[in-house]
Amino acid sequence: MAVSLRSRARLRHLVQSQQLSRQLLDEIFQRADEMRASPHRAAGRLQGRVMAALFYEPSTRTRLSFEAGMLRLGGQTMGTDNALAFSSAAKGETLEDTIRIVNGYADVIVLRHPAEGAAERAAAVSDVPIISAGDGRGQHPTQALLDVYTIKDEVGRLDGVKVAMVGDLANGRTVRSLAYLLAKYREVELTFVAPPQVAMRDDIKAHLDRHGVRWREVGDLDVVLPQVDVVYQTRIQKERFTDEESYRAVKGRYVIDLAAMRRLRPDAVVMHPLPRVDELDPEVDSDPRAAYFRQARNGMHIRMALLDMVLS
Ligand code: ASP
Repeated sequence: MAVSLRSRARLRHLVQSQQLSRQLLDEIFQRADEMRASPHRAAGRLQGRVMAALFYEPSTRTRLSFEAGMLRLGGQTMGTDNALAFSSAAKGETLEDTIRIVNGYADVIVLRHPAEGAAERAAAVSDVPIISAGDGRGQHPTQALLDVYTIKDEVGRLDGVKVAMVGDLANGRTVRSLAYLLAKYREVELTFVAPPQVAMRDDIKAHLDRHGVRWREVGDLDVVLPQVDVVYQTRIQKERFTDEESYRAVKGRYVIDLAAMRRLRPDAVVMHPLPRVDELDPEVDSDPRAAYFRQARNGMHIRMALLDMVLS
């Protein structure tokens, strides 16, 4: 990649999860632990700093946890939701031009965009850090950070962890970024459970092979459930389908419900990046192994740690 993503040991832009080293990951997790343990001690650290949130696609958790994190650190935020319609993109401005302009106003830019590779394009022209908040079907590196942080927290280890990724693995950017990050750890085992139409893409499989990560594809979720530490369920990404029929053909195929929970080990957890549609039964919420709301809460602390790291 032509873009310089790191300046010395510091992180500059975060556009792909594979750019994070084990050392950087440890540092981010440690800062997130500190943010979580004593949020008030961190207040004021980013006073006078401004974050711009440019969101060209819908978001709840990512957008609000970044904003909440920045505000809790004493910084300020501004941004545009639905930027395709409400920013100058609607008038035909390129992403690059928008980034150049916002460079004059903000100290960090959080960008969500429908085009794969948009975050790299933004980083190539930006003097201020670009943090990707998701680029279409590409990646969602800050989600992967909070996911790995959550696995560490819930399971107690990352080396040797066994994770089943379930659902829309072709269009889901969270599982792609998570696979890249988990590949940094030793003896990790990944099981992909997806309708064949939305199977994990070959680029990820090739990356895992290159890094000696064991992976397999299994069609029967019931077989996988008793064998793993983490079930990472995902939504079928309706917005990436061109017609309703192909969406319906894969929707509802794999569901985590009370019957599935009975097959899961007592020490395993269920994660989901959320939002959920029908692939995760709300009846599961009261099971202590349902980790997805804790996972979402971790997102704010991880994003605080990240903002602190790129801005200080
Ligand atoms: N919120 C996640 C994302 O933005 C997952 C999803 O939308 O299904 O990728």
